Amino acid sequence: MQATVKTVTSYLEKLAPLSIAMPGDPVGLQLGSNSAEIKKILVALDPDQAAVNEALSTEAELLITHHPLFYQKFSSVNEDLPVGALVADAIRNRLNIYSAHTNYDIAPEGVTFQLAARLGLPANNAKVLEVTGSEQLLKLVVFVPSGHEDNVRDALAAAGAGQVGDYSHSTFQVSGCGTFMPGAGTNPYIGSRGQLEIVDESRMETILPSAKRSAVINKMLEAHPYEEVAYDLYPLDLEGETIGLGLIINLEEAISLEQLVRLCRERLNTNSLRYWTGSKDRFKKIALCGGSGGSLIDQAVRQGADLFISGDFRYHDLKQAESSNLSLVDAGHDATEWPGIAYLQQYLERNLQGDGYETEVCLQTSGTAKWNS
Ligand SMILES: [Zn+2]
Repeated sequence: MQATVKTVTSYLEKLAPLSIAMPGDPVGLQLGSNSAEIKKILVALDPDQAAVNEALSTEAELLITHHPLFYQKFSSVNEDLPVGALVADAIRNRLNIYSAHTNYDIAPEGVTFQLAARLGLPANNAKVLEVTGSEQLLKLVVFVPSGHEDNVRDALAAAGAGQVGDYSHSTFQVSGCGTFMPGAGTNPYIGSRGQLEIVDESRMETILPSAKRSAVINKMLEAHPYEEVAYDLYPLDLEGETIGLGLIINLEEAISLEQLVRLCRERLNTNSLRYWTGSKDRFKKIALCGGSGGSLIDQAVRQGADLFISGDFRYHDLKQAESSNLSLVDAGHDATEWPGIAYLQQYLERNLQGDGYETEVCLQTSGTAKWNS
């Protein structure tokens, strides 16, 4: 079974919903059709000619990138210009192109979370640097036959439901009677075909962030003994965890600049790392932003960060950091985003294969332009 563009992008949009992107950011399908069948996907950072060439030479029909193809305003497809030639090339060869940009920057398990994970920094309870919204919360109600409540509750908790602050496994349950009559083609766990069953069941309720919806439902269905599981999902008018750009991480033990720089050099495949340090030589509160973090220096200072790891810092960013004694590590725009790109490939492969699709998911191997130093 091959996935369509829509199948693939609906997995992506569970991880990084389009609705959380920054206003005006042209995220989503850039070129192509949602109904196109996809045997192979190439995941890359940029929709440049190198990525398009690699997609076409490896017979990938879908190119997924972080940076959008149509980020700049576009008024013609002139094949004498690089971007026009690229667009024409992609259309002629029926290459679909999709971008997950600021929606993936802002997603709770997005670009900066993956950067933290690659560096081994504890991001699970980190706060965001610049709040842009909050997670949509859902209420799940499932009807469970008596004796199976613990299994179902454990499965829900393992997939991320029932987390209220630092409390996990938060559910409410009440006993009652469920009724059903198994039809001709059924293989019922309880009861017989054609006979009305009245069964002791518990109504179990819990809460979950909408981004975890598919993981929670899948785990619940696996743990539930029934062939057909009765459950309801309601949107809630409550504010979930805040989401936004960048993270601020509190370390249990302070770390030296040398250790942080070594960590970045070893794990981020960067050849253009530079840093500036003020009067501090050990750091406990680390701000982090994959890509370009200069616009978040104010927020990093306001939240008491000692040091900020990102890419693309400019001279005036350095002056601003200097005035607040905020140390900076510039590990490169692309190098700080690559952990997120690599995660996209793994995430899609795991989900597509897990649901029985044969669609192959590859990570870009062709080189992109890098600074020399
Ligand atoms: Zn970027």
